[in-house]
Amino acid sequence: MTILINKINDVKNNVKIWKQQGLKIGLVPTMGALHKGHEALIKKALEMCDKVVVSVFVNPIQFGPNEDYDKYPRTIENDFSICLKNGVDIVFAPSTDEMYGENNKLSNTDLTFVCPPYNIVDCMCGKSRPGHFDGAATVVLKLFNIVSPDFAFFGQKDAQQLFIITKMVKDLNLDLTIIPCPIVREQDGLALSSRNIYLNSEERKNALTINKALKQIENLYRQGIKDTKVLFDSAISVLDKNIELEYLEFRNFDNFDKTDEIQKNTLVAIAAKSGKTRLIDNIIIR
Ligand code: AMP
Repeated sequence: MTILINKINDVKNNVKIWKQQGLKIGLVPTMGALHKGHEALIKKALEMCDKVVVSVFVNPIQFGPNEDYDKYPRTIENDFSICLKNGVDIVFAPSTDEMYGENNKLSNTDLTFVCPPYNIVDCMCGKSRPGHFDGAATVVLKLFNIVSPDFAFFGQKDAQQLFIITKMVKDLNLDLTIIPCPIVREQDGLALSSRNIYLNSEERKNALTINKALKQIENLYRQGIKDTKVLFDSAISVLDKNIELEYLEFRNFDNFDKTDEIQKNTLVAIAAKSGKTRLIDNIIIR
């Protein structure tokens, strides 16, 4: 049976009983508009845990003033059906008031925030989205405190977020394990994203070159080319001219340092706009 819960205390009461029974709890944090990428995380959680909570919350404190918070797709009925079909135990869909109080004071002058290390947040997605990762880490820590999961499942699609959350768990001695999950793609390579619905057919076609650029880098690396400058230039030449590049970066996924030479565990991450839609994708060299 899947239940929809809006109240923090109702989740905590269920969790208390599960803990008394010695059950392993999994958490899949999402912003809803669930797709096959989220579903893969849910399936992994159900495989590894006795009880699974999927949170659905469009977190206002991780959106900038000119971002798509209001427009972000909200499809709770469909999200619930997907969770029900998969056998999720709780769908936790709190209101903003429930998460942050009714006074709607959501800035860091009024609210306690988690501040992940500057070096990791002030780059890539954090550069164009100031405050985004503080907001994301804060809500994730709140969800960890509400659900007390043994395992929490995050997609490699948001590689910078995955790195930041894994580091937060380590730095703050949180008692849970982060399980990274591979990127789920459409057959033609486009990484699944709740924002893909914003793309018209032309923009979607152009967006395919984002993944092509990453594949180009991987192929050249397999042929022995490691210099990131050479790889960068070659990848850029693959991008459709209508794609507006925000960044294409090469980072060591052990410490998030920039790297001049690709090697094992290098993250190659890209953010770009197709039309007005901002898309991200990445590969990790294995
Ligand atoms: P979101 O709802 O976009 O905040 O995503 C919730 C979780 O789903 C995050 O851990 C994402 O990394 C993960 N996710 C989103 N899209 C994908 C995808 N295409 N493949 C794998 N994981 C994904």
